[in-house]
Amino acid sequence: MVLPLPRRPQSSYRGRFAPSPSGLLHFGSLISALASYLHAKSCQGKWLVRIEDIDPPREQAGASSAILSTLEAFGLHWDEEVLYQSKQTQVYLDVLDYLKQQKLSYFCQCTRAEIKAAGGIYPGICKSREHAAANSAIRLINSAGHFQYQDIFQGAISCDPALAREDFILLRKDGLFAYQLAVVVDDICQGISHVIRGCDLLEPTARQLSFYHILERPNPQYGHVPLAVTNEGYKLSKQNKAPAIDNHHPQPALVAALTFLGQEPPAELISASVEEIIAWSIGHWSLDKVPRKQQITLPE
Ligand SMILES: [Zn+2]
Repeated sequence: MVLPLPRRPQSSYRGRFAPSPSGLLHFGSLISALASYLHAKSCQGKWLVRIEDIDPPREQAGASSAILSTLEAFGLHWDEEVLYQSKQTQVYLDVLDYLKQQKLSYFCQCTRAEIKAAGGIYPGICKSREHAAANSAIRLINSAGHFQYQDIFQGAISCDPALAREDFILLRKDGLFAYQLAVVVDDICQGISHVIRGCDLLEPTARQLSFYHILERPNPQYGHVPLAVTNEGYKLSKQNKAPAIDNHHPQPALVAALTFLGQEPPAELISASVEEIIAWSIGHWSLDKVPRKQQITLPE
């Protein structure tokens, strides 16, 4: 059996933005969307959008279409059809079948309490136990254990090696597909060459690199932009003081996001049209100006 996934077209830049519809876009997600868009466009690349709707209990009704409307209002137009993870079920199942057949995964029936008692990092308890599928999670045999990589913005990244070597979950016990499975499979399906996103995903990237290695597919390049946090050190969300995202008046948030990304937009850009702001941003996008910091506190 061969891996049931397409091969990436050679030497073309394909970036993406992949929001989950658990709420509306806020200033933090605008920063990721804008950075991934500008990096793609400044490389004459394509920019795709994927809606990560694989966790129905966490979804908010109408959020998917609201997110897409906001992207359009902010001049961030995607190049190909939007991919919805909820339509990818069969692909994920096929990949799980492949991994099982290749003996690259196993069923796990451990409880949270058992893993906590074993030290918090899963020590492979069920690897030799031959559990049946019923009431089991599926774990990847993580023979790669990548924990270091070169990040486009942050430079050399080194993650906790023990955590990076863990046999991580691909299918949860409750039957939901795990983020690591869906994100890697979808990035392969969409032929993604560059993943630009926020620094909250620095650690999961190590696991994703291991997964690419095990699937014997070339990994994308990763770049993580600083996370916008509040004074109290919290990640931005709808609940706290994120600058308002106003579809009818996108200019202030766009210019604030450019400033956050170190791009030094001229003051008069705030009275330009959205199209003019985006054109200026593509023309002036500078990798080196993006702050080499994992998080930045927003001014009150
Ligand atoms: Zn187990």
